Amino acid sequence: HTEALAALRQDLDGLRFYDDDRALEARSKDYFWYSPILDAELKDKRAELVVIPQDQDEVIRVAAAAARHKVPVTLRGGGTGNYGQCVPLDGGLVIDLTRLNRILEITPGHAHVEAGIRMSKLDDAARETGQELTMYPSTRSLATIGGFIAGGSGGIGSLRHGMLRDEGNLTYLKVLTLEEEPQVIELRGQDVQKVHHAYGTNGIVLEVGLALTPSTDWLHTAALFDGYDKALRFATAAQEDGLDCYLLTPVERRFAPYYRKFEGYFPEDRDAVFAMVAPSDIERFRARAEAEGATISFAMTMEEIHANRLQPAYECGWNHTTLQALKVDKGWTYLQVAYPRPFDIDLVMRQMDRYGDEMFWHHEMARQDGEIQIFALPLVRFRGKDEMYALIAELEADGCTIFDPHVVTIEDGGMKTIDTAQIDFKKLADPYGLMNPGKTRGWRPEMARSA
Ligand code: FAD
Repeated sequence: HTEALAALRQDLDGLRFYDDDRALEARSKDYFWYSPILDAELKDKRAELVVIPQDQDEVIRVAAAAARHKVPVTLRGGGTGNYGQCVPLDGGLVIDLTRLNRILEITPGHAHVEAGIRMSKLDDAARETGQELTMYPSTRSLATIGGFIAGGSGGIGSLRHGMLRDEGNLTYLKVLTLEEEPQVIELRGQDVQKVHHAYGTNGIVLEVGLALTPSTDWLHTAALFDGYDKALRFATAAQEDGLDCYLLTPVERRFAPYYRKFEGYFPEDRDAVFAMVAPSDIERFRARAEAEGATISFAMTMEEIHANRLQPAYECGWNHTTLQALKVDKGWTYLQVAYPRPFDIDLVMRQMDRYGDEMFWHHEMARQDGEIQIFALPLVRFRGKDEMYALIAELEADGCTIFDPHVVTIEDGGMKTIDTAQIDFKKLADPYGLMNPGKTRGWRPEMARSA
């Protein structure tokens, strides 16, 4: 793209852009390295230019220039995705959207914000009005709301409020098209699904509307059990009985050495359930755990967690669990597993037995389509690509659904089929097929509008 880039650079005169090795390297990566398969495929991919627009007008200028010169564009929020969503496969321009970070309006039950705002900043601002987010990924402190919508699916809070795609969680998206004269398209209600989890392939999300819920001063806690089956039984019963929790994560004892900050709180001879529990339900939580023979290891407010130099309970679940393990032992990778409903604890115990030291387990209590849905993000010893796909086939034969974190396309990862509504929207929002090329199987070059 040498000529096109030179022309683009001229058009970006006065904007903040970078092409030094450090900037290109840093902004061409995400957390794909959790997967040795993706690491081999993606580690040398680089953008050729990075731009950091300071406001929406600058984004419009950049979008117009990229379309004019037909330069591939990769959008970037916090860069915490796990499947190389932020990695440019075909060089070109990375647009860092983290300066689009204004809160436009917070009203009862709703926030309207710019897409580059960090989720922690947004959640903290909501808290000042007595409200909080319905969910956030465990990367709360770095991830942006735009990146979560375009790349994520759910997380902490999904136990209470369902997944991001469940009705009511996302209400509005203001999307900019990538054309010589960029247009704004507004999506409301379930129309937001046209852009949700599309990996930034079909328009630039400039603004977001999302639901808020009255805030709770969650207590971060862990209950310790003498058996993983008991931990699972407790967590599923707590969810079924509607104990007011924002997080319930059973983590088996073999993770204890990885949770270094929790030394003394998570001993190696106990299986834990990390949780965020409403103060009004903490006694019920304690009584139920003790009735199962468990002990409560700690129960602290966020302030107490910080004062004791611990991590919040949400950094003990979801994909932070993998991060804790990888910091100690680089031989791990992971899988994302959705269990068939109703959840069968005996199936988990059989899987633990079958895989022994090849897999370590933790489970996430969530909700999807209004129903209880249990996920796992087990650690897997990496033995090679063929072995990984043999394992996936075995777990599928158990009735589990695998969201494959070792692939770069939307379809090969979670979605399995081409989402025609998203592709139809791409024809409008990215008519030249410049956005994050290679990340969706649904787009073929002949679909592109000729210049
Ligand atoms: P990025 O990585 O910057 O971007 C993600 C995708 O969105 C990319 O394809 C990018 O091009 C696109 N994009 C970014 N901004 C925009 C925009 N404004 N318009 C259009 N497209 C855009 N995910 C979960 O869902 N739940 C979890 O609990 C969870 N836990 C995690 C734990 C760890 C330790 C790690 C490393 C990752 C985890 N993730 C989780 C994945 C990831 O952190 C989240 O999905 C996060 O919300 C992504 O936000 P981001 O701003 O970092 O997005």
